[in-house]
Amino acid sequence: MTLLAIFSTSCQAKYDKYFSNATMRLDYNHIGNASEEHFAFDQMVNDGQWAGSKTILIDDLRLGKYFFDVKDPQTGEVLYSRGYSSIYGEWETTPDAKDNWGSFHESLRFPWPKQEVDVTIYKRNIKNGFDLVWTYNVNPNHHRAFRASADNHYNTFDLVVNGAPEKQVDIVVLGEGYAKEDMGKFRKDANRFAEVLLSTEPFASHKEKFSIRAVETPAPHSGVNHPHQDIHTRSALSVTYGAFNSERYALGYDNKTIRNASAAVPYEFTAILMNDSIYGGGGIYNLYITAAVNNAFQEYLFVHEFGHHFADLADEYYTSATAYEMDAQHLEPWELNVTANTDPETIKWKDILTADTPLPTPWEKEKYDKHSIEVQKKRVEMRKAKVDEKIMENFFLDKKAWDEKLLSNMRYSNHVGAFEGAQYKSKGLYRSAANCIMFTRHDQFCPACQRAITLIIDQYTK
Ligand SMILES: [Zn+2]
Repeated sequence: MTLLAIFSTSCQAKYDKYFSNATMRLDYNHIGNASEEHFAFDQMVNDGQWAGSKTILIDDLRLGKYFFDVKDPQTGEVLYSRGYSSIYGEWETTPDAKDNWGSFHESLRFPWPKQEVDVTIYKRNIKNGFDLVWTYNVNPNHHRAFRASADNHYNTFDLVVNGAPEKQVDIVVLGEGYAKEDMGKFRKDANRFAEVLLSTEPFASHKEKFSIRAVETPAPHSGVNHPHQDIHTRSALSVTYGAFNSERYALGYDNKTIRNASAAVPYEFTAILMNDSIYGGGGIYNLYITAAVNNAFQEYLFVHEFGHHFADLADEYYTSATAYEMDAQHLEPWELNVTANTDPETIKWKDILTADTPLPTPWEKEKYDKHSIEVQKKRVEMRKAKVDEKIMENFFLDKKAWDEKLLSNMRYSNHVGAFEGAQYKSKGLYRSAANCIMFTRHDQFCPACQRAITLIIDQYTK
């Protein structure tokens, strides 16, 4: 027996001591406003077979705005932990949270404990540590613990299954805005999602570690709700464009329905494909992605949003409108693909820097910004004039071609360095490469993003 095998056997023994093979979904309401937040227990449900690793139970990456752990109340030992983000976490930073209270339903998923455990939620503080915000004693024999697994009345199908769920990254694909007669199209779209994702690095090099299954959730009508375009419809998961009053941001607030549908198959990650042509989507770490499929940028949307959801990747783009912004001191972001630090000895991707690359790394930023400002102005005008979505698509395709040409023909185009401009800041924050799918509508992840994704793959498959 190798050392690694002995280690993993002892971890599995720990799993077996504390947990059964089922998943516990702890449901709660997360309520608050810009200055305070509260948590209230809802229920525990058996969410089907445990699909996560049985040997890597502790999340050492500690990504996300929130974090939870499951402890043995007797010894205080941490048995399971995971970082995550939430709709609440985004909402509380919006103007609405200054005037109103908000209420959001959320879930934590962990292996079903054999005895009582303490579940604690922590929230990211400004020093990048975590502060305790809620502790709940979970009694698996509680009268509001549904110990039986749900009756699965959904039609499901496998897209690619490569092994046992506890050794695989398990993704569930849900469809939103697909009518009954669209189910053939849903199959095709779900297949394309799987193909695109697994042909993008670093997923491609690890594709045997992925299993992707789909669940049918037919709607009465085709298409998704668009409050801003005055298109109103109800679909199975209640996903809607216009989240936080932002026209292209699509989210589903009906957590229970989305979770119940997802749990029809073993899953850790969720992709909600929207049967809609309007460019848009969203992706939240350890929650789900949404992505419009009937659009020229569907492949970009799949992969970009999945980067947020899977590895908590930050957006690397910034709006050129912030170009005049003061060069403020930025706190180091926790995400693995953006940094405020340009010291080659301590930068978070120091192990992958290209030799002989200056930090910060020179690039054609002025040229890029100038063009982006022009494009943005035009885009606002075109949106105002409500031009056809196809014309918008072509406009974005032109922008993409322009970006590709500029960003791939610079002295340090293929170097790993520190390129200024990332995470909505024109100055003071840096990305690892000239181009990335988190920066423009490029089709590849930069090296820092690839490394982050690989770390998450390991967390679910070892
Ligand atoms: Zn990147």
